[in-house]
Amino acid sequence: MNAFRTPEDMWELPPATRPAPSGPLPDAPHAVVIGSGFGGLASAVRLAAKGWRVTVLEKLDAPGGRAYVHHQNGHVFDAGPTIITVPFLFEELWALAGRKLSDDIELRALDPFYRIRFDDGDEFNYSGDPDKMRAEVRRISPGDSAGYERFMAEADHCYRLGFEALGDKAFDTVGDLIKASPAIFRMRGWRSLHAMVAAHLKHPKLRMAMSLQSLLIGGNPFSVTCIYSLINALERKYGVHWAVGGTGRLVQGLVSLLEGQGGVLRCNAEVQRIEVDQGVATGVTLASGERIAADIVVSNADTAWTYRNLIEAKHRRHWTDRKVENGRYSMSLFVWYFGT
Ligand SMILES: Cc1cc2nc3c(=O)[nH]c(=O)nc-3n(C[C@H](O)[C@H](O)[C@H](O)COP(=O)(O)OP(=O)(O)OC[C@H]3O[C@@H](n4cnc5c(N)ncnc54)[C@H](O)[C@@H]3O)c2cc1C
Repeated sequence: MNAFRTPEDMWELPPATRPAPSGPLPDAPHAVVIGSGFGGLASAVRLAAKGWRVTVLEKLDAPGGRAYVHHQNGHVFDAGPTIITVPFLFEELWALAGRKLSDDIELRALDPFYRIRFDDGDEFNYSGDPDKMRAEVRRISPGDSAGYERFMAEADHCYRLGFEALGDKAFDTVGDLIKASPAIFRMRGWRSLHAMVAAHLKHPKLRMAMSLQSLLIGGNPFSVTCIYSLINALERKYGVHWAVGGTGRLVQGLVSLLEGQGGVLRCNAEVQRIEVDQGVATGVTLASGERIAADIVVSNADTAWTYRNLIEAKHRRHWTDRKVENGRYSMSLFVWYFGT
């Protein structure tokens, strides 16, 4: 274990020789993670499992980001995410920290996954039961049964290529994109999700029911790539779950994993600038003026915000600036919370 000396060594270590989840070595390299949403916390747990000393900096008064938990007048509101489609990714994080997800969090499968109510009062029970789903499709549009089978086969194809083969690729370089292009071509990824669904299903209710899932990740079915049909396959394969006690339990669970690994979460710690020296991030400066040195900085704040506001213009690449400036940004969602 004492052989770990450089960050590069740690990335290369086989799992069995990584440091125990009890804590990093005092002289282990330091990773600063900006943001304590699911992305930031997951990165932090992974880094800690590889032996880094990890500090997560969060500008709000509590962790969670889009999964922040609001308390008001005795009510508790999960601000954003509520359903979990790939539970094994959480199980993996718990395993990396030497623990078992089910010891800390109870995930329950939903049945049906969704109940879609149409404006004419009709309902579609969207579930993981293949027979019930076929019956629902037949009830709404008997002529679409064969098309539904074709749609599922194509969604499975997108799952294999888009999730299993490409799901963990960062697409950081043009080379990554070139390598992925045969798969994107085979999925005909230039089509919209709705166009792909409409090629198989004729009834408007079925088209809606089979393409709405991209809305869960903020994607408009009329414009996002049909690769997102993989969500349909994911749901059938792993089910749709919720965390008993609310999504906040998952956030708390991740924070306690990190702390059990010796990592630190600091709230009310807004990063004002990522310090860069000769193209390499060397630490961060907080709004309070405090400077924290780091061997690696992971920003899980929104990408455009990171480039525009946290990295000085002289350290940004021209093409990054153009991409960030030319992006079209939206507020994504407007949510009202009711305490009843
Ligand atoms: C209403 C809603 C419903 C959703 N439903 C689902 C769902 O059911 N299932 C699902 O899987 N997904 C769902 N999502 C999507 C999911 O919530 C997000 O994909 C996920 O939470 C994003 O996590 P993240 O860590 O990438 O970013 P965020 O959660 O946005 O975390 C970023 C964090 O960085 C912090 N930060 C930003 N700038 C700084 C700075 N300068 N210094 C320090 N900290 C900083 C922010 O305060 C924030 O805490 C939903 C989203 C919304 C909004």
